[in-house]
Amino acid sequence: MAKGGSRFGAGRPSYKAKAELAFNLDIRALQRGGCLERRYPFSWVWHTNHGEKVGSATIQVTDTHLHLSYTLQGKNIENTFAFVKTPCNFGGVRWWFQCPQCGLRCAKVFFNKRNGRYACRQCVGITYYSQCEDAMDRGWRKQKRLERKLGEYLMKPKGMHQTTHTRIFNQIKACERQRDALLYNYVKKLGLLNELNW
Ligand SMILES: [Zn+2]
Repeated sequence: MAKGGSRFGAGRPSYKAKAELAFNLDIRALQRGGCLERRYPFSWVWHTNHGEKVGSATIQVTDTHLHLSYTLQGKNIENTFAFVKTPCNFGGVRWWFQCPQCGLRCAKVFFNKRNGRYACRQCVGITYYSQCEDAMDRGWRKQKRLERKLGEYLMKPKGMHQTTHTRIFNQIKACERQRDALLYNYVKKLGLLNELNW
C-alpha cells in the first residue's frame, strides 16, 4: 500500500483515455513541417509526452484534401479531411481542417474512439474531458492535502482528537467518491462503458 494509504490512484484518468488524445492531427504542425505542400505520401508518427511512439499513419495531401490512413487493431482505417483556407491579415493563407462531423473549420482534429473517426474538439467531447480532468486534479490535490494531516495508512496521528481524525478521514473518502463519479460520467459520455466492462 502506498504511504498515506490512499486508494492507489482510483479515479485517475486512465492511460488509455489519455492516449486517445495523443492521436490528434494539428494542421499548424503539418504546415510548419512543410507537409501541406508535399504531393507524395509520407508517414506521420505520434509520440507520448515522454517520446514513446504510440502510433503512425500515412498521409497524402492534395490541393483540397488530406487523406489519413492507419491500422487500428488489425483494421485499415481511412479518414479524409477537406481543407478550408482563410486569408491572413498580413497576406498568405491560413489552413484549417473542415470537421468531418459538424463541418466547422478547426485547426486540430481528434480521434474519436467510439467510431474510429476524427472530428473537432467539440464533436469528440475533448472539452468535456479537460473539464473532467481539471476537476479530478483539484480533487486529488485536496485529497493529498488531507492525507498529509494523517499518519501512515491514514491512521490517527498521536495527539490528534478522534473526532478530528474521523472528520478528515470522511473528507478523504468524499474526495474519492467524487473522483469516481467524475470518471464514471466521463466514460459514460464517451460510450466506453461496455468496452471497459463497467
Ligand atoms: Zn466538429
